[in-house]
Amino acid sequence: MKVFCENCQKTIGQVPDDKIPANKIVTVKCPHCQKQIELQKTDLAIINHELLMKGFGHLTVGPIPFPIFLQMQGQRYTEFNPALTLLPFPLNDGDSGKIGAFTVTEQSKVSMFWGLIPISQDDDIEWPIAYQDYSVTFESISVPAGSFDVYTVVAEHHWGVEGVDWFYSYYAADVGNVVKSSINIDFGDTELTYYNIELELVSTTYEP
Ligand SMILES: [Zn+2]
Repeated sequence: MKVFCENCQKTIGQVPDDKIPANKIVTVKCPHCQKQIELQKTDLAIINHELLMKGFGHLTVGPIPFPIFLQMQGQRYTEFNPALTLLPFPLNDGDSGKIGAFTVTEQSKVSMFWGLIPISQDDDIEWPIAYQDYSVTFESISVPAGSFDVYTVVAEHHWGVEGVDWFYSYYAADVGNVVKSSINIDFGDTELTYYNIELELVSTTYEP
């Protein structure tokens, strides 16, 4: 992060992002005018993510599942513009507000038999996501890396009767990041799930 002094109207230096803990204010002094400048990380957001899935598919023709196992693999690259803010700092128990809006751009490729038989390929699909309501609660949770006091940020987008996208992010100040997250994306207003991801922190070497 570049540090700008408003008195001197210039950049006076740079502080590595990981030296500023989230939810805390760091003070630096301008070497020219001695002004105290407060630095705070305000958001933690996802710019992009890439998934690689490999496994076995089960062929279904009509109502009858065929007992044929197919090697399947898929790649998916997703970009959020602007970056998807799942943690609107500073976090306080009982906070609520709006997250978004953003555009999702996605490239995906699904194939069978180690890429030999392509099934589908989509380049640069774009769709807009509207503002989502979020709320913050403070609680204790356990993940494989241990038990943590976390701020749980819940953002949901209801598409209609059944479809709901949700983003649950569990932020632990002791770790300086999310220790668990749960994401569900549905196919619009159907109840069909497009994807559902559960992530938990297994271990960390971070020391505040
Ligand atoms: Zn200055």
